[in-house]
Amino acid sequence: AAEKYSSIRELPAITKDGTEIRLSMNAGLMADLPSLESSGANGVGLFRTELQFLIRNQMPKRGELVALYQRVLAAADGQKVVFRTLDIGSDKVLPYMKPQEEPNPAMGWRAIRLGLDKPGVMRMQLQAFIRACAGRPLSVMFPFVAQFDEYRVARALLEKELENEARLGHILPESVEIGAMLETPSLAYAPTQFFESCDFISIGGNDLKQFFFAADRENERVRKRYDSLNVSFLSFIEQIVERCESTNTPVSFCGEDAGRPLEALCFAAMGLRTLSMRPASIGPIKSMLRSINLAEAKSVIDEARNSGTQSVRPAIEEWLRERVG
Ligand code: PEP
Ligand code: MG
Repeated sequence: AAEKYSSIRELPAITKDGTEIRLSMNAGLMADLPSLESSGANGVGLFRTELQFLIRNQMPKRGELVALYQRVLAAADGQKVVFRTLDIGSDKVLPYMKPQEEPNPAMGWRAIRLGLDKPGVMRMQLQAFIRACAGRPLSVMFPFVAQFDEYRVARALLEKELENEARLGHILPESVEIGAMLETPSLAYAPTQFFESCDFISIGGNDLKQFFFAADRENERVRKRYDSLNVSFLSFIEQIVERCESTNTPVSFCGEDAGRPLEALCFAAMGLRTLSMRPASIGPIKSMLRSINLAEAKSVIDEARNSGTQSVRPAIEEWLRERVG
C-alpha cells in the first residue's frame, strides 16, 4: 500500500481548487518515527508521550527523558514534533503509580487534571522537553483542558521552567509554542482570551466526540450509534474553527477520524487546514484530497445539512464515489 502512494509522497495535499491541507502524523514510540520519511508526513502533529511511560516498570528519570526526546527530535530530522504532556489517568495506569478507584475513569482524574494537582512529574517532563530542544524550536501541548484556568496555570508552569533553565545556564529552545488540546465541549465556549493565549489548538476528536454525544469511545455499542459526520458534530467542528480563526489561532485536528477519507474531507470543508493521523493514512488521504474540488464538496455538505438529515455521510459518500471511483 505504501508503494501505491510513493509517487505522491513528495507532493503537497492540495485540492483541485487550490486549498492546501497539511498532513502530519501521530506517534508515540521511537519505532513510529521512520514512518515520517516513508509516509511523507509533514512532521509529528501529536506525540503521545505517555506510551514511553507505560512501557516501563519504573518512573523514568529526567535525564532519560531528555535523551529520549533528543532521539525523537533527531529522528524527525528538523521536522516539527508536537509533544503532548502525559495523558494518563485511571484507565491508563502507570504500573508504578497508585491506581485510583474511579467509577468513570474517562471523566476522572486524568491528563492535565492530574498534572496540575501533582505537578512533580509534569515539571520534570517540561524540563526534559526544554533541555532536549536546546537551540531548536519546542512545541508542547496540554491534553484534556476543560477550562481556561487549567491552560493558564499549565502554561505558567512551562514559562517558569524556561526561566529556571535560563537561570541554570542551559541553552533554551530557539522558540517555544504552547498549545491546548480541545477535547471537551466546554473549551469551545471558553473566553476569547483563552484562544488568544494559545499559540495553537489541536482538536482531540476521539475524546471530543465521546463527550459531545455522551458515548463512551471504548463501548462499541454506543460509539457506533453516533456518526462523526453527524450534522451536529460537523457544525460544532466548524464553530471551533471559526473561533480559532477569529483570534488567528492555528487549529488542527488529531483524532483517529482525521485518517478516514470522508471524515478528512468533511473536516477540510469545515475549514481545517491541518490534520494529524496515523502514518498509514497519509497516502490515501493525500490522494483523495488531490482529486477533489473542496468548494464543491462543501456545497454538497451544506445541501445535506440544510435537508434535515442526521448525517452528511450518504451524500458526501456518493459524491466522492462518483469522483474518485
Ligand atoms: C483524542 O482524544 O482525539 C486524542 C488525539 O487523544 P487520545 O486518543 O490519545 O485520547
Ligand atoms: Mg484524547
